[in-house]
Amino acid sequence: MSTTTPADREQQSFAETALRLGGKTEEEARRTGAVDKADEQVESLFKPQYQTANSPAHKAVWDGHVPLELFAPPALPASHPSDRTMEASLEIVRRRREGKIFDEKGKVSTDTLQELAGAGYWGLLIDPRYGGQGAPFARFSDLLTRMAVYDPMIAGLASIHGCIGAVDPVRTFGTPEQKERFLPRLASGEALSGFALTEPGAGSDLTALRTTAVLEGDEYVVNGEKLFITNVIPGRTAGLVVLIDGKPAVLVVDLPKEENENFKIVPYGLYALRQAYNNGLRFNRFRVPRENLLKPPVGDGLTIAYHGLNLGRVSLCAGAAGSMRIMLANMLPWAEFRRTYGQAIATRELVKRRIARLAGLIAGADALVAWTSWLIDEGYRGEMECIIAKIFGSEAMKEAAIELFMKTHGGRSFLKGHLFGDNVYDFLAPCIYEGEGEMLGMAFFKSLVKEHGKRFFEPIGKAVQRIGLKNPNPMNPLHAWKLRKELAPYARWRVGQMFAPRDRQQVPGMDRRLADHVDFALESFSRLRGEVAGAMEKYQLKLADRQCRMAELSQRIQDNIVLLVTALWGNRQGKEASIAAADILCQDLRRKLTGKRPSDHYFRDASRLADVILSGGFEAIAGVPREEILMKYENK
Ligand SMILES: Cc1cc2nc3c(=O)[nH]c(=O)nc-3n(C[C@H](O)[C@H](O)[C@H](O)COP(=O)(O)OP(=O)(O)OC[C@H]3O[C@@H](n4cnc5c(N)ncnc54)[C@H](O)[C@@H]3O)c2cc1C
Repeated sequence: MSTTTPADREQQSFAETALRLGGKTEEEARRTGAVDKADEQVESLFKPQYQTANSPAHKAVWDGHVPLELFAPPALPASHPSDRTMEASLEIVRRRREGKIFDEKGKVSTDTLQELAGAGYWGLLIDPRYGGQGAPFARFSDLLTRMAVYDPMIAGLASIHGCIGAVDPVRTFGTPEQKERFLPRLASGEALSGFALTEPGAGSDLTALRTTAVLEGDEYVVNGEKLFITNVIPGRTAGLVVLIDGKPAVLVVDLPKEENENFKIVPYGLYALRQAYNNGLRFNRFRVPRENLLKPPVGDGLTIAYHGLNLGRVSLCAGAAGSMRIMLANMLPWAEFRRTYGQAIATRELVKRRIARLAGLIAGADALVAWTSWLIDEGYRGEMECIIAKIFGSEAMKEAAIELFMKTHGGRSFLKGHLFGDNVYDFLAPCIYEGEGEMLGMAFFKSLVKEHGKRFFEPIGKAVQRIGLKNPNPMNPLHAWKLRKELAPYARWRVGQMFAPRDRQQVPGMDRRLADHVDFALESFSRLRGEVAGAMEKYQLKLADRQCRMAELSQRIQDNIVLLVTALWGNRQGKEASIAAADILCQDLRRKLTGKRPSDHYFRDASRLADVILSGGFEAIAGVPREEILMKYENK
């Protein structure tokens, strides 16, 4: 029996209403509603012009006129005071690469962490007032790509600490007192941090959290268990998500230096991120001062988690852009060395296609990082855009590792000491952490359709419920008549779409190849808009159950956005190799969207680009360290 009152229903989010009207169980509607509510509360932290409905991705699909200026970020300013710290940090890692980064357990050593702390690395995103460097996010993410080229784990740790760890929650949601207390220690590296959200029973489903905190006197008493927590060991700091009175909340927790009866590490072997610590945390009547509770102006602990996750998703893509540079740079010497049937494999069309494809993936990742981090700095929430960056970055790295890097290196890929074999789990795990890709793809789609659904479909759904229609069908004249008031605005919108002019914007002086891609993307947006609207009409309030359709549509919209962003990025690079790399990715995405087979022209373009890269003409991989070829032999 439903326990919702009319007052509750007023408070319900669109997703919750839709699920109830669509016949879902009370529990599922309530749980999904809680997540949707948290999402709406995050929205309200941003000025209206920076909220999802006004974001570039949303506008591109729904507005009929793509705001191209919102897809083309300006170049990074020539300098910023944080540059000194960035260069010093890069220098430290460059110098330490020869065996001095890790300790005897194979983890990033305390020495390395401290030397980086001395340079200011852990405070890059923290305001100088608290001892940090105040780096704009676009500069920070650019550094992560450069750092990942030397050591992806060191880049990853900066992201864990600064984006999803304690830094973002405190600097965004802390009181002045909390900032004074925590930020200087987080900036100096005295307190390194991570974020503890996942539990054995709660990963994708964050409404299943069970860790609780109960106020006793001046302290919260925490009970529960966390799983898969990166960079959090005794003595470090965590943004700990707990339930307080049944609602998610975040406590900033300084863990004791040693395990004790109230706090234990749950150890396990984990293949991914093996150079960092990742473990479970078990709390048994663990006490945390009440003043360590973060109180967002609206919403709850999930509001805080979602905020940091967006930054983390861009950082993940930035790290992938660095790792893919390592793969490409290390494919070239091998491809030139390895001879089969009397010829270096670098001369073969198949291998050249892989080289070109990898350059295209790097171009796409670079383009997305530049775009999304600029949006964040501009004040956008960037929810949909950051999801695109996360999905593209992780999927591109997976493809690069398996389809391009591993295949080109053949059996040597599996030797100990080989970049592929040693790091394969790190190349794959980003598909899962910070949100598994397909789940995020559906979240993207839900963000995309929310406004449209609220505007046109919610009133219809409510009227259907009020009138008591069992199987509403707008084609049935009686139903249409009964729902005429609610159907009319949608009918007007639909008719308007039929007569909407085609978006024919052009970017002056653009390379012809890239201009053609931009034109394709603009046309595709209007087609995709029609498809999304069609799916909403067809499935109505049952759309939430059509997960495969949502995921499929979501991916095509994402691909079209990646295509547009990459073409515009290529246009800003000015260098032929980067333009050609952007062109290759755009051609690939167009074929994916249209289902066409690759033409001979495409294969020639790919070979030509590979030749440029093989002759050292791709700036993106200049200076990227190259490993020794394993099992080298004398080539005759
Ligand atoms: C290397 C690594 C580091 C990590 N670091 C951290 C960290 O620092 N802090 C932290 O809090 N967490 C961390 N995590 C956890 C990570 O965020 C979770 O693994 C991730 O969110 C997925 O949750 P799960 O593993 O519980 O997957 P599950 O919830 O078990 O889901 C498994 C799969 O089931 C499917 N699925 C689930 N629900 C649905 C649905 N409703 N509809 C359709 N399909 C569904 C999806 O394919 C999903 O991916 C880390 C994980 C890894 C691997």
